[in-house]
Amino acid sequence: MFRPSLHLQRHQFVVDFVKRNKPKQVVDLGCGECSLLQKLKFHSEIELLVGVDLNGAKLSKKKHVLAPVSTDYLQPTFKQLCVQLYHGSVTQRDVRLRGFDLVTSIELIEHLPLDDLDQFSEVVFGYMAPQTVIISTPNSEFNLLFPGLSGFRHGDHKFEWTRVEFQSWALKACSEYGFKVEFTGVGEPPPGQEERFGFCTQIGVFHRLLDRDRHKSGDDVDNHFSYTLLYSIKYPSLRDHNILRKAVVSEVLYWAEKLKQEWLEELTEKREEENPVEDCVREREEHGGIFWTKGDEHECHMSHRHVSVPLHKLWTGCPKLSELTESLHNLAQLIIDDPQIKLNQDQSAVIICFLEEDLEDDGPNDLMDSGYVEANNMEKELWKTDG
Ligand code: SAM
Repeated sequence: MFRPSLHLQRHQFVVDFVKRNKPKQVVDLGCGECSLLQKLKFHSEIELLVGVDLNGAKLSKKKHVLAPVSTDYLQPTFKQLCVQLYHGSVTQRDVRLRGFDLVTSIELIEHLPLDDLDQFSEVVFGYMAPQTVIISTPNSEFNLLFPGLSGFRHGDHKFEWTRVEFQSWALKACSEYGFKVEFTGVGEPPPGQEERFGFCTQIGVFHRLLDRDRHKSGDDVDNHFSYTLLYSIKYPSLRDHNILRKAVVSEVLYWAEKLKQEWLEELTEKREEENPVEDCVREREEHGGIFWTKGDEHECHMSHRHVSVPLHKLWTGCPKLSELTESLHNLAQLIIDDPQIKLNQDQSAVIICFLEEDLEDDGPNDLMDSGYVEANNMEKELWKTDG
C-alpha cells in the first residue's frame, strides 16, 4: 500500500531528524531486528548508539548487523562510535540510559499492556529524561482504509489509538515531566482525506523543556542496573592513538616507496641520455628531496644502500598524511618509535631500502657507485636548500 514501505518511512523519519539535529547519544527502545540502529550507525555525529528490547534472542541473532565492517578497520576515520545492545524492559529503569540526546520508540507502546503505560512515561520522560523523544504508534482511524481488517493491525498489539487518544496521553506526559510535543506522522491517506483519516502511523516528537535536575522523579538518585548488556562494540577510530599511529605508518611506508619508485623510473629514463651524471644531479635538485645514499650501517642493517625520503616531502606530497597528523612535528612524533620505520640521525627523513632488482641490469651500481651522495652530507645540503 505504501511506497516506500511504512516501516522504511518511519525509520527515514528518524534518520532525517538525526541529520538535522545531530544527536550524539541515541537509544532505540524496542529496537527489534536492529534495522533502525543499522541505519543510524552511519551518522558520524552519533558517538553512542544503544538498542533495548525485551526479546534477547532476537537481539543476539541480529547483533552482527551492527558490527564494524572491514572498511571500518582498513580506513578508520576520526568518528567515534560505540554500539550497545541491552536486554530489558522499557518499564524498568537503568541508569546507563539517562540523559541521552534522543530516545526513539518506534511501534513499541502498542505492545505494552495499557497498565504499563504510566510506568513507560515515568521511565522514559521522568527517569531517562532525554533531550528529545520520538514515539510512533498506529493511528486506528486509518484502519478503515485497510480492506478486510478487523481488530488490530498486529496480533500482539494491546491497543491502537485514535489521534485524540494518542494526543491526550502525550500531553499528559508533557505536563507531568516537563516536555512539549509536536504531532506528525508518516503514511499519507488518499488525497483529500487527510482531515478524516490522518497519517497511517502517528508520531509525537517530544522536546524537554526543563533542566533534568529540576524535574527529578522519585528515587532517581539510586543507580539502577536492570538491563543486561548483550553486545558492546567500539568502532576503530583515529582518535585512538594506536590506530592513528598505524594509519600514519602505513601511509608513510606507502608514500615513501611510491616516491622512490617514481624517482627511480625517471632516473632510469635519464640514464639512457648522453650525460647521465649531470642529469641525475639535476634530477636530484628538481625533486629536492629524494636521493641516493650509500647507507648508514648504524641506522639500517638490512642493506648498505638506501633511499632517503625527507619527511617534509611526504607531508606535503601526501594530503592524507597532512590531514592525519596536522603538522610535520606530529608526523615525526607518531612514527619515531615504530619498528617498521627507519629514520635518519636527525629524524628528518625516512630511510628505505633500495632493492637492486628494482633497476634494470645495465647499471644501477654505476649510478650508485659514481658517488652521487654520501647520506649525511647530502641530507644536510638538501635540507639547507629546501629551507
Ligand atoms: N522498533 C522496531 C522497528 O521499528 O522495527 C521494532 C518494533 S516491534 C513491532 C516491537 C518491539 O518491541 C519488539 O521487538 C518487542 O520485542 C519489543 N518490546 C515489546 N515490549 C517491550 C518492553 N516491555 N520492553 C522492551 N521492548 C519491548
